[in-house]
Order: sequence, then C-alpha cells, then structure tokens
Amino acid sequence: MSALARIREKGFIVSLADDRFSVAPNDKLTPEQIDFLKSNKAQIITELLREQLSIPKQPDKLKPQQRDKLLKYLTATGHEDQADKLLDECLLSSSRLKEALEVADSVLTKPLPKRNMDKLVRCRDCRYFQSYYEHGLASGSCDAKVMPLGACHYSETWKGCDEWSAKNEY
Ligand code: SF4
Repeated sequence: MSALARIREKGFIVSLADDRFSVAPNDKLTPEQIDFLKSNKAQIITELLREQLSIPKQPDKLKPQQRDKLLKYLTATGHEDQADKLLDECLLSSSRLKEALEVADSVLTKPLPKRNMDKLVRCRDCRYFQSYYEHGLASGSCDAKVMPLGACHYSETWKGCDEWSAKNEY
C-alpha cells in the first residue's frame, strides 16, 4: 500500500498545497504518524501530484448547487476574496472538491460563531496560525480549530475572529 493510501486509511485528509502537503485533522496525528509523514514526504507529494495530473480539467463538472454552497461557505467565513482560487482548485481536483464540500457542509450546518466585525484581524498576526509554508504566510491551518477539518486560512484576509490572539515574536 502506498504511503498516501496508508495515511488516508487512518481517516486523514491529505491535500497538496504547492510543493507541500497538509494533513487534517493535524492534531490527531500521533508522533509515529508525524515521523512517517516526514520520512515519506517526497513520495506522498509525488503521489498527490500524479493523482492531480490524472484528473482532466472539466470546467463543467462543478454543479451550480456545489458552486453556490462553496460561495456561501466563503461568505460565511469571511473569505470571499478567495472564491476564484478555491473554485479553480475544485475544478482541477475532485478530491479537493469533495474536501471543500465537506468543510462547507460542516460550517453551514452548525450555527457559526458570531464574528466581531468591529475589530478586524488577520491570521498572519495570530499565534494560532500555522502556515503551510516556511515563509509563514499565504494559506495555513488554525490551531484554535476555527473552521475544522483542514480548511485553509489565508494569512492576509481581514476578518472578524473572536479566537484571535496576538502572536508573540522574538
Ligand atoms: S484563531 Fe482566528 S485569526 Fe487566529 S489563526 Fe484561527 S482563524 Fe485565524
């Protein structure tokens, strides 16, 4: 069984993010699984790329209701500016589409926490933000579990977030 299949078999969602990958929910990974991911990083990225390339681009495969749901989700979470990026990703990858729809369902079917829009913050300045990249910006995950299931957060988007906590930098 491939390294990618082994980690997916344990119930994790593995997504490609440029030249890296993310695993969700990452707080459920055991130290042994983290070691496994580190030592199989290149293989997992290769498998994800192969998977992505084997799926032909089908511009019409996003149904109108799927598109509406994703847009509603982005609006509800204050990420309207990421609509083009997310829709493109979903057109290119059926696994990304499935994952995004699951996240949208989970966010839209439970009451969203009230967002304080009087005080806008950015994930880049928050101590809970974990960028997928070494430079610490762009997309990443949230250790405070705001939007679970591995949803991306974008460092530069101004948003209302009651969990925001200033990052201490030394
Ligand atoms: S707590 Fe809020 S501001 Fe901080 S990383 Fe999570 S979503 Fe972003």
